[in-house]
Parts: sequence; C-alpha cells; structure tokens
Amino acid sequence: MHEIQVHNTLSGKVEPFAPLKPGVVHMYTCGPTVYDYAHIGNYRTFVFQDILRRFLKLRGFQLTHVMNLTDVDDRIIANAAAAGVGLRDYTEKYVQAFFADCKTLSIESPEHWIRATDNIDSMVRLIQTLQNKTYTYNSEGSIYYRIAKFKDYGKLSKIDLSGIQAGARVDNDRYEKESARDFALWKAPKPGEHFWETPIGPGRPGWHIECSAMAMKFLGETIDIHTGGIDLAFPHHENEIAQSEAATGKPFVRYWLHAEHLLVEGEKMSKSLGNFFTLRDLFAKGYKPSALRFALASVPYRRQLNFTFDGLQQATSSVERLRNFAVRLKNERFPAGKQAPMAERIAKGASDFDAGLSDDLNTAQALAAVYDFVREANIAMDKGEFRQGEVKAAQEFLATFDKVFAVLEDNDAEKLKALGYSASEGPDDAEIEKLVAERQAARKRKDFAESDRIRNELLKRGILLEDTKDGSVRWKRK
Ligand code: AMP
Ligand code: ZN
Repeated sequence: MHEIQVHNTLSGKVEPFAPLKPGVVHMYTCGPTVYDYAHIGNYRTFVFQDILRRFLKLRGFQLTHVMNLTDVDDRIIANAAAAGVGLRDYTEKYVQAFFADCKTLSIESPEHWIRATDNIDSMVRLIQTLQNKTYTYNSEGSIYYRIAKFKDYGKLSKIDLSGIQAGARVDNDRYEKESARDFALWKAPKPGEHFWETPIGPGRPGWHIECSAMAMKFLGETIDIHTGGIDLAFPHHENEIAQSEAATGKPFVRYWLHAEHLLVEGEKMSKSLGNFFTLRDLFAKGYKPSALRFALASVPYRRQLNFTFDGLQQATSSVERLRNFAVRLKNERFPAGKQAPMAERIAKGASDFDAGLSDDLNTAQALAAVYDFVREANIAMDKGEFRQGEVKAAQEFLATFDKVFAVLEDNDAEKLKALGYSASEGPDDAEIEKLVAERQAARKRKDFAESDRIRNELLKRGILLEDTKDGSVRWKRK
C-alpha cells in the first residue's frame, strides 16, 4: 500500500495524510443549501467527497463524517418569505430530493446528517464566545465579525487585505474576494422573515457561523479534513477559520480539500447562470445513474470537469465494459489451474489502483490501472489463456475497485424506477433470465426459429444477447 497524499489548500501543497488520532478520521463536508434542487455541478463535489470517504474506509480508517444541510441562509429566507411558508415547509422537498439523489448516485450516507436549524443554540454560544473575546461588534441589531482583529485572516484563500477599509461591512452570505469585509455572524430580523428569539437578540445566523458551530460540536475543536467546492474557500471557509480559531485558539482544520468546478462550455455550472442540469434532467433523457456517477468520479477532483453528453456516453460504455467483464468472470468456465504471470498482473493492477488513489485521489490513474488489466484479461480469456485459478483474485480486485467507484451492480433500472422514471419499462432481470433460459432450451433442441424469435423479442424490448464461446449467454440493456 502507498502513502496517502492529499492537496491541502491551506499550505498550497500536496502533503502526506496522517489524522490527529491514528486510524480515526474526523471529516466535515459543507452540504447543499436546500433552496432548490441540486445540480450535477454540486454532485461533482459530493461524489468527490464520497470517493474520498470510501477510499479512506478501504484503507482501514474509522470515519466520523458529518455533512450539514444548510437549511437557513439568505436565499432560503427570501424564498420562504416570498412563498409565505415556514423554513421547514419550504426546504423539506429539497432535502428529500437531495437524499434521493444521493442514494441514486450511490453516495454513502455520512455518519451524521445535520441541519443548521437544529443547531441554532450552538451557533448562539459560539457568537457569545466571540463577543466575550471582543471579535464582534453590533450594528442595527446585527452582529459582525471584525476581520482586522484576526491576524491570520486570509491564510486559506491568500487574499490581499491591503485595500480593505476597517469597519466596512458586508451583509450578504456570499460575496467575492474583492468585497472582503467584516461579515455578519447574526442578522437582525426583517419584516415577514423567519427569526429566532435568543440570548443575543432576535434574528438568524449568517451562513458561515453555521458550519463553524456544527463542525466543532460534532467533531471537536480541531478536525482532520474539511471539504467543499472551490468556490467555498472564500469567503465561507476563510470565515469558518476566523470564527473557530478566534474562539478556541486552536487550529480548526488540518487538511482543507477543495473540488474544482464542473463547467459547461467553459463556465461554472450554476443556478445563477441558468446553465445547469439536475440529475432528473439527465435521467429524463435516458442516461443512467451509474454513468453519471462514473463521469463525475473519473476526472480527478482538482481538475475542472468539462461536462458533455459525449463524456456521459463514454462513461456509459466504460461502465458496461466493466460490468461485462465482471459477468464474464462469474459465468465463464476457464481452463483449470493457475498461471504466475496473470497472478502477478492482477497484483500489479491492484497496486497501481491504490497508487492512483493515494496520489491525491487521482481517479484517472486508478481507473487506467483497472482498464489496462481488464483489456489484457479479456484478451487472455479470448485466447483461452486465462485460468480458473485466477478468477478469485481478479474478482477481489474488481470488488476493491467497486468499494470506491460503486458502479458494478446493475441496479440502474431499479434506481430510476424508485425516482418515478418509466424510461426503464423494459423487462426486469427475472423476466430476462427466464426468456434467456427458454431460448437456451430452444437452441438445445435445435429449434432455431424459436430461439431467434426470443432473441428478437428481447432486442425489441431493449435487451441485447451475446452468445459466448463456451455456450453461455450474456445479456445487457441497450
Ligand atoms: P451550495 O448548495 O451552493 O452550497 O453548493 C453545494 C456544493 O456544491 C458546494 O460544495 C459547492 O462548492 C459545490 N458546487 C457548486 N457549484 C459547483 C460546480 N459547478 N462544480 C462543482 N461543485 C460545485
Ligand atoms: Zn459550510
């Protein structure tokens, strides 16, 4: 096994990864702001986090991973007020859609899902601590963080603070580097908007204090890994550091990992630009969940991912190739015995796979290790050179791959059905197996008319059959 290295935004370098407590990883992930359906750009980041957590688990770490749902921020407050409903009533639909999407993309549940609105008390307490340490000031019912007092301000995003006027404030949760200002920890209520009555006055939390308070409540004052998309490095994560470290006097996060954006025609996919697809948009066009997961996972997280339908189609074929290989290993009978070169080839593939992921989660390199092996093994099988004695090791390699990539199980049809898509109205697995068995029986009794009829019937219903050399049949959905 290789030493795990990760790129830490804080140092700007790739560093060996070692958690504070050996064997145990505390990780915090900024979850979605549930004001709308998430788009596939958001899922690029969530799939990266899933690959990271799965890889750490594969390498034997015990993980405590917390993901929050931002269910109160500027956009949610405004939308809920406009719709004339409470916050929970407004966000619940998007929370449920997010959970369903994660399941569809095989994104594992973190150990803790938490909601900002369930943790207002912790945010208030953290603001009180900052008040006691004089990092704050009040203005018109809101409470601001005085960035000039925190000497390390800017250390994550490396912003230039020279042009910033002391005391200039920003009320919005999201703003550009050029607008770095004292930011709101607690916002005074506005007419018609939701607020909480608290010891620091009526109002609601700013977005940044939410994650500081929740991360420290669930994971402690110093956590191992904090992740998010690159757009969160400033101001969100910069402000999280300022709040947490001012309050505790300790380092807040040891490794900051940020995913680059998913782009469409060179621009960040985002709601505000209107250039986005949700998962549902793609499924309605007939794309499979596994293909989307694979497409999102296959570009290393620190490279921008240019989204194209061609790329999605290629991912569909790659997943199919890998699934076919797994089926071949399971169903074909190979000549008995073992062969040292193939055993070595499998071990090398597994080692290269681990090397790729250990190198700052280089998924492209890890996948190349799998593709190369599958191609060579398929050739060996066609030539009759692959032996039965190698099946188990090859299957173990594939299983290791799938613990991280999670695309081998042929469950796309079920997943789409669960989301209410009828695109997969073809026959289910049991019916296909039954028809394949009937066709095999027809071939055996040399009733080729019947065997062809069944093949054509399946083809019309979207199922392709492939007769293999050893007489068995493979099938797949078109
Ligand atoms: P939000 O719901 O806006 O808080 O975003 C949820 C996550 O998606 C955050 O980690 C963002 O950084 C990330 N994100 C937003 N847009 C993109 C994009 N186009 N590509 C990759 N990640 C994104
Ligand atoms: Zn956050």
